[in-house]
Amino acid sequence: MRTSRLLFLALIVAGGCFAFSQPNDAVMQEALKPTTPIQENLRVLTDEIGGRVPGTPAMEKAEQWAIAAFKQAGADSVHTEEFTIPQSWAEGDTQVNVVAPVEFRVRAVSIAWIASLPPTTSRVVDVGMGSAAEFAKAGDITGAIVLVHSKTLATWDDLFEEYFRAPDIIERSMKGKALLIAFTSSRDYDILYRHINTMNGKMDVIPQVLLAREDAMRIARLIAHGEKVQMSVSLPNVVGPTITTHNVIAEIKGSDLAGQVVIFGAHLDSWNLGTGALDNGCNAATVIDTVRAIKAAGVRPRRSMRFILYSGEEQGMLGSLAYVRAHRKELDNITAVYVLDAGDGAFTGFSTQGRKDIDAALAPLLQPFTAWKATEITNDAALGTDNYDFMIEGVPTILPNQETANYLINYHATSDTFDKVNLAQLKKNEAISAELMVELANMPQRLGPRLTRAQIEATFPETHLDDAMKGFRIWDQWVNGSRGRTQ
Ligand SMILES: [Zn+2]
Repeated sequence: MRTSRLLFLALIVAGGCFAFSQPNDAVMQEALKPTTPIQENLRVLTDEIGGRVPGTPAMEKAEQWAIAAFKQAGADSVHTEEFTIPQSWAEGDTQVNVVAPVEFRVRAVSIAWIASLPPTTSRVVDVGMGSAAEFAKAGDITGAIVLVHSKTLATWDDLFEEYFRAPDIIERSMKGKALLIAFTSSRDYDILYRHINTMNGKMDVIPQVLLAREDAMRIARLIAHGEKVQMSVSLPNVVGPTITTHNVIAEIKGSDLAGQVVIFGAHLDSWNLGTGALDNGCNAATVIDTVRAIKAAGVRPRRSMRFILYSGEEQGMLGSLAYVRAHRKELDNITAVYVLDAGDGAFTGFSTQGRKDIDAALAPLLQPFTAWKATEITNDAALGTDNYDFMIEGVPTILPNQETANYLINYHATSDTFDKVNLAQLKKNEAISAELMVELANMPQRLGPRLTRAQIEATFPETHLDDAMKGFRIWDQWVNGSRGRTQ
């Protein structure tokens, strides 16, 4: 420890350019120390504050937690930036019961941003996976509860398939004048999770619930055997007026390139069936501890560093959207945006989000991670976390590629709690992230240019980002210029 710190100081004395090309052992060692505040910070956030939906007292407590923890970590400055979400939403005491031909309680939760539905009883119609053909085969669904099957979640592709299938099912159910959509949980063993099918903070258009897989399959078997299943549903959800929430931002000032900025972000908000540990408390705590590691190692970066804990990610990446809108004039000077939002799985490398042009500049920065096999570069692009609005403004963004570990089964679920987090792996991920941030801040050249709208669109044939925008029903925002770079 001591040796590496002295070595680092010697490199600084010898000249900043060496600090760029050599791994910054001191920062990585700080992150990996056996006793650091990350564990206690994460415990408080998850166990003592819990799930953090914007507009709730828990989210306000989480913002205060973040401000205090950033200050404790030694940030040069900490502040918050406010934005609004059109509605607040909270689940009431959801009740779902099969009342005929047998009676049993169905374990269920409301889909998020769904209006309240007074107690209602109706027939259940099985629409299979919800394809157009299956809806047609089901016949008249007027006033009915449509039961939608699901595959068991095993891969990231399965998760995106689940998201992308929902809008068509909603449209078909609306067209058929169904009462309610009952989706089947994609997880076994009674795991329930919070799903949202609207990406703009506004209320969804038709009542929807998620049923425990075991109960949904029992209902499907009854229907398949010719029974006329009747189900009662009560969704006393609480919908409130426009809410104010905050991104929390810490800074480490740069030196000779202080006018340029590198950003490290993760969302602080979470759903509240569990306590938002893997998604995304562990990474919020990592962002904060990265500030501590960099300051404790005595590093003064060349470019300025911003550490942003976003709110409103789960309602459609609304915090990062608000940030990009508020900082549009600065975007030319934001040279890299790095985001964590996939739990604590080991890093296998990094995705440039469609930016092949930055591969050559990025590759040497990853050399310190060779022993951890985290150097592979991919050019795929994701839609689903807080790099999105920077990416479609042409700013270079980087996400780690991670092993799924136990992320997917616990995703947005009752089971996403502190005990699921692998703290040893989390510290390795922090060490890599902190080192990468220092290198991005200190590299002699920019990682890459800001792309024009035409250059951004030129990445779509390979990334299929346009298909993802269509899948999430936000393609029109890109087309009409209300979201993303316009020229
Ligand atoms: Zn997340």
